[in-house]
Amino acid sequence: MQRTRSDPRLRSAALLLCAAVSLNAQRPATVKALVGGTLIDGFGGPPIRNSVILIEGERIKDVGQAGTLAVPAGAEVISTDGMSVLPGLWDMHVHLMINGHADYAHWDKTYPALFEPVIMPASAKQLLLAGVTSARDLGAPLEASLAVRDRINAGKIPGATVYVSGPFIQHEPYPGTELFRWGVSGVDDARAKVRKLADAGVDVIKLIDQDQMAMDEVRAVVDEAHARGLPVVAHSHRPEEIRRGLAAGVDNFEHTGLSSAPEYPEDVIQAIRERTASMARGPLFWTPTIEGLLNYEYLRDNPEALDNTSWHEGLTPEIIADIRQSIAHPGRLPYFQLTPARRPTLARKFHQLREAGVVMLVGTDSGIPMKFHSQSTWQELDAWVNILGVDPMTTIRAATYWPSVAMKADRDVGTVTPGKYADIIAVKGDVLRHIALLQRVDIVVKRGTRYR
Ligand SMILES: [Zn+2]
Repeated sequence: MQRTRSDPRLRSAALLLCAAVSLNAQRPATVKALVGGTLIDGFGGPPIRNSVILIEGERIKDVGQAGTLAVPAGAEVISTDGMSVLPGLWDMHVHLMINGHADYAHWDKTYPALFEPVIMPASAKQLLLAGVTSARDLGAPLEASLAVRDRINAGKIPGATVYVSGPFIQHEPYPGTELFRWGVSGVDDARAKVRKLADAGVDVIKLIDQDQMAMDEVRAVVDEAHARGLPVVAHSHRPEEIRRGLAAGVDNFEHTGLSSAPEYPEDVIQAIRERTASMARGPLFWTPTIEGLLNYEYLRDNPEALDNTSWHEGLTPEIIADIRQSIAHPGRLPYFQLTPARRPTLARKFHQLREAGVVMLVGTDSGIPMKFHSQSTWQELDAWVNILGVDPMTTIRAATYWPSVAMKADRDVGTVTPGKYADIIAVKGDVLRHIALLQRVDIVVKRGTRYR
């Protein structure tokens, strides 16, 4: 049957639709209810069966159980029956400006103009769809970092909430990387560079190669950042980077060392123990970014995951083709040639750090060669549980609660608690028994909006 424009039924339907739309616009934010799943709230206690989570607007209104917490009439009910429900994940070490391409020199020459409009938004969206509702971006051009972060926060583009460092602070930028690496020469310059970043509005300062800087420059960077309320994240590739970082008061170290040295020297572990014993300065955080190293040889020999199109999201066909050709021979990438020699040392280093009392955080370095934003984070959790023997609850807290504390955002995110932003994910099955289920999340809610 054909309808004409003057069909009265059609006209009244259209009127009803208009009325409904305007009603919606006037009504206060609708309530969503996530009902039925087992809630792991991020605090580490026993999971809550048959959970009910009420979301009003961007925030969690109430958390309870079926039978005791009523779902208000008119709420949008989303069933989480049969699922694990948990705070949205954090990835504490990502690189939005790269997407797995193997040749950095080529990338840094070819794509800077596309960082802000295409590449960084694509990375942030890929993270979000993977259940990562918050990510710390450690090293990118300043203006692009701030613009992408702010567009996401304003709801203009979909993406994980990002906390940005802007450019790396280091002794000297490597040739061709001046856009996102700032060198410092002298104490005054160190302070001025940090002040410039703080004034622009970054969330964290990223310090690297501090073993090549004068000690008073390192102190100036950390002191100036702390005076502005910004945490300092520093590389720990070499023992002297750790010694200097600790002496200057760095809050969070990254990585487990580029070398194949079998373990951390005793004096370094001793210095870490002294730092972790000093309660006044809060926990010493460490982001080992370990899965890419542990999984490299497996991926080299079983590269099917590289064909998963989840990492194409948001990228142009030309960029995708360029990345694909660069990783066509996973075994030939210079980046990973020493990795097989490093792999056997990783568990020892990881456990040395844990035994010295650091609080470990989940982060991946995603964006580096073959490591995609859509696939990295769950693999870090999986590696901790299934290769390094960390219990699943501790691992989940290292990707939820503790990152929010490290970024001073725990009033707003990190657990499923009334009053916080509704950053919540759900996945079919029991993640405390099978952590790898996190590779395929069923529900992603960020600030009350459902993205998956
Ligand atoms: Zn990194």
